[in-house]
Amino acid sequence: MQKAFCFLTMSACFFACQRQQASDEVLAQIQAALERIENGTYGRCVVDSEPIEPARLEAVPWAPYCARHQREAEARAGVRTPRA
Ligand SMILES: [Zn+2]
Repeated sequence: MQKAFCFLTMSACFFACQRQQASDEVLAQIQAALERIENGTYGRCVVDSEPIEPARLEAVPWAPYCARHQREAEARAGVRTPRA
């Protein structure tokens, strides 16, 4: 039931986001999450396959990373010019 619920939530969000022209990044994340539901890896971090915290999935159903790797991804995104 949880999986079906998430799938419906994300499908609805995917189409809503498309209409509202959400960022390509969000659309790509939602699409990737839908693919993870299909191949059975939904709810696990794409980096280390650790379970993603339920609170994170509730807030962001298409979250691809556990909290640790989310922080690392954000750190990488924030450092675009590592050298002076
Ligand atoms: Zn992880």
